[in-house]
Amino acid sequence: MLVAIDKKSAERIKAVGYKTAHAIRSKFPLGELVCPFCDEIVFPRERQGFVLHFVHQHPCTSNIARHPESPEHEQGKFELARFLSQQIKDHPNESAKIEVEYRLSKCGENGRVADVALVYQNGNLLICECQLAKITLDELEQRTRDYYAIGADVLWFLGKDADTLENRTWLRSMFGSVGSLQFIYTSS
Ligand SMILES: [Zn+2]
Repeated sequence: MLVAIDKKSAERIKAVGYKTAHAIRSKFPLGELVCPFCDEIVFPRERQGFVLHFVHQHPCTSNIARHPESPEHEQGKFELARFLSQQIKDHPNESAKIEVEYRLSKCGENGRVADVALVYQNGNLLICECQLAKITLDELEQRTRDYYAIGADVLWFLGKDADTLENRTWLRSMFGSVGSLQFIYTSS
């Protein structure tokens, strides 16, 4: 996850606001940073080439539907937030905010956490989902329907195991386009 809660101040702490995991560890005593969804302890994790993020000490106990904490997925969210800010940069709007890991309690069975969302004060919502883990067409359709049911539009970005011809074809027929996320690994 890219955002943790500081138990002491109740503030949302964004990992991208820090240069290194060391900077986060130096500032927050162990146990002070917790998951916004299950309240369990998280700590910063650094992987070369990926955006700094938080991971659970123990697996997340929340039953809210959310994605696994792979470095690639964290990087994907970071890129989507950047993509969205590019999209709106010509029309900056004080009443629309980009939120990472945006909780939608009325979405789906137990609520969902959107990877990145453009949240308008007037009730509109554009969600960007980064899907890297394998997903069936049925699941993809269900998730899309869950978002539509709460009145949110969604842009899907596929990468890795989720980027199948079947998924890509369906998304294209549904939305006209589909985003892609590619990871290039270097060993320098
Ligand atoms: Zn959690």
